[in-house]
Amino acid sequence: MIYLLLMLVKWVLIFLITLVVVIAVGTVLFLKFAPTFGGRPDATTLARIKASKHFNGETFVNLIPTHASTLDIADITDGVNDDERHLLLQFLFPPKGKNPSQPITSRSLTLINDAKKLSTTLKDGEFVWLGHSTVIFRLAGKIIITDPVFHRASPVPISGKPFAMTHMPSVDDLPFIDIVLISHDHYDHLDHKVIKQLVKQNKAGHFYAPLGVKAHLVRWGVLADSVTEFDWYEEITVSDNDLTQLKPSNPALIENSVQNKRPLVTDELRLVFTPTRHFSGRRIKGHRTTLWGSWVVQSAPLNVYFSGDGGYSNEFANIGEHYGPFDIAFMEDGAYNERWRDVHMLPEESAQAGFDLRAKVVLPIHWGKFDLSTHHWRDPVRRIKQAVAKGNEKVLEDWQIKLASPRVGEGFTLVNLPTEAWWEAED
Ligand SMILES: [Zn+2]
Repeated sequence: MIYLLLMLVKWVLIFLITLVVVIAVGTVLFLKFAPTFGGRPDATTLARIKASKHFNGETFVNLIPTHASTLDIADITDGVNDDERHLLLQFLFPPKGKNPSQPITSRSLTLINDAKKLSTTLKDGEFVWLGHSTVIFRLAGKIIITDPVFHRASPVPISGKPFAMTHMPSVDDLPFIDIVLISHDHYDHLDHKVIKQLVKQNKAGHFYAPLGVKAHLVRWGVLADSVTEFDWYEEITVSDNDLTQLKPSNPALIENSVQNKRPLVTDELRLVFTPTRHFSGRRIKGHRTTLWGSWVVQSAPLNVYFSGDGGYSNEFANIGEHYGPFDIAFMEDGAYNERWRDVHMLPEESAQAGFDLRAKVVLPIHWGKFDLSTHHWRDPVRRIKQAVAKGNEKVLEDWQIKLASPRVGEGFTLVNLPTEAWWEAED
């Protein structure tokens, strides 16, 4: 009897040890080789990174001191204020309304064309928000998409699931994209499955990305020649014939306002990569070894700003002064928290940044798709709407901001802004 018991204990121990070893080896192999983590920069990119004045030899550095999070043990027990109290408990036992209880009513895209990009129903000057930071629009005859993300905002299948929608946008919905703009390599902004689908379906022309991000794209199948990497305040003017030539960084250009530069002709676009107060990284280690930022997209008729992610700073006023006014700004508004306010604006700060940029229209992004903080899913848009209205009371008519609040998948132009508070009718 004792012998049988000892044998049982022995085999249970062998089983448990084997299980632990298999899980440990599996985890190590996953972390080392899973494609979702991306690639390592090649020698050319590494040389550019090392030469960047924003790189300190180990990581990129924000223009002003910035903490990714102020969370520590004292925060967990004390809380910054009542709303922020017990952050970890809020994550473990989420407050009601953090996620919508029903699928969000979204619109099916009507951009579908034939696969050979011969036609599209997306008109010049038309914009479609696809949830979170993904916006597709057309300027100077070119179709542009920002941070295309349609799957989980996470490397593992247990977190980062998008909210349910009546129509979930996908790569299948997209026309041929001439220009893919990437703001940084966080999972809710760079979706490796989308990149692979774009490659497989031959739906993407050229990628413009922060320094260091090209290696990820190349690992997922994008041709190296189809990616141009940018440091802060580098810019490029592209026309139909030339989507790849990068103009080297020239601080003198930044000194001059846009009004002094050569005006763009009909088919030209000017892209400028501008700084934000944020960070980067897809792995547990090695954060801030790729760059992050925002994009200015200029065409002859329209001037557009895409915020990427970042905390509030004076740099918005600087960008507004040199590249504004903007006809529309896609502004980060969501996944905020007092504790990581340095790297994600509160809605009131997003509104203020819109005024600083001299934006005529603000489209709130970074909300309505992922549960990445502790606030109610509707709070970002409610709060920015109030903040914009309050801000408008204090400024002259010329400086007032209009808020565009489309449903996911709903196309609009700047003369036909969607303003319905549709989220109030959703639960
Ligand atoms: Zn981010």
